[in-house]
Amino acid sequence: MKLVGFGEDQVGVLAGEQVVELTDLVDVPGGSWPPTAMLRLIRDYDRLAATIAARAAAGDGIPLTEVRLSAPVRWPSKLIAFPANYQRHIEEMRSVNRADHNGYFLKATSSIVGPNDAIVLPPIEGAEVHHECELGLVIGREGHDIPVEKALDYVFGFTCLIDVTVRGKQERVARKSFDTFTPTGPWLVTRDEIADCASLGLSLTVNGEPRQSANTRDLLLGIPEMVSMTSTISTVYPGDLIATGTPEGVGPIRAGDEVTITIESVGSMTIPVLAPPEPGGYDLRYWGRQREEQA
Ligand code: MN
Repeated sequence: MKLVGFGEDQVGVLAGEQVVELTDLVDVPGGSWPPTAMLRLIRDYDRLAATIAARAAAGDGIPLTEVRLSAPVRWPSKLIAFPANYQRHIEEMRSVNRADHNGYFLKATSSIVGPNDAIVLPPIEGAEVHHECELGLVIGREGHDIPVEKALDYVFGFTCLIDVTVRGKQERVARKSFDTFTPTGPWLVTRDEIADCASLGLSLTVNGEPRQSANTRDLLLGIPEMVSMTSTISTVYPGDLIATGTPEGVGPIRAGDEVTITIESVGSMTIPVLAPPEPGGYDLRYWGRQREEQA
């Protein structure tokens, strides 16, 4: 199934070129805050799967062209990200880290946006802002200290994810947590639709020009290992999102660019890059201070 988020806090399933609404199946009124309908749909998915399949088969939805899709998961308890998880990316960054040795970091969940949103550049003079093409993984069940051999049972599904990053010496979390810095979507594909998540092609273009192209078979730390490692430290919850790491080919994005991410068996989306807001609308005085102290 391909599950979608739309509207204020509505959820649905894709049936051909239509969206069939499922919001009434989850115990949260539409339009509520925070937007957690998808978390509940994921949590209750096993119980609801037959109903969802029947509704999808019946069709009778809203044409996809008339629905403004949001990020599939908008309010996860954690947005976990693995750095240095492809050898050739480690080499291009001359990184001393490896995901299988150094583990993960967190991004602000408020950086998540959807397939109809834009990346808005922060107004940092001379900043180099990079695209990172990544397979996004969504947790399906609560778990702690999950053994590697059971870890796939905790994976609900997958989505496209761009881990946008300011290069520099500031704390990594700060450089990656600007609003709009984690586009995800266009939908959440359940794990049963993916024949082998350890063999998925992923690619990213900027204005149609190829920048990144790789396969998840080259991950240093595989998907079960990532879920297991994370769960030895933090309990994982339905909807938790893992950015599984970027392959080589990262590079700058500029205002006016269009970034397209495509993942085999998952989907594709194109995200525009917008200039920073007008001066005064976005106060970064602390960013400059941090830069001076660390220089
Ligand atoms: Mn990344």
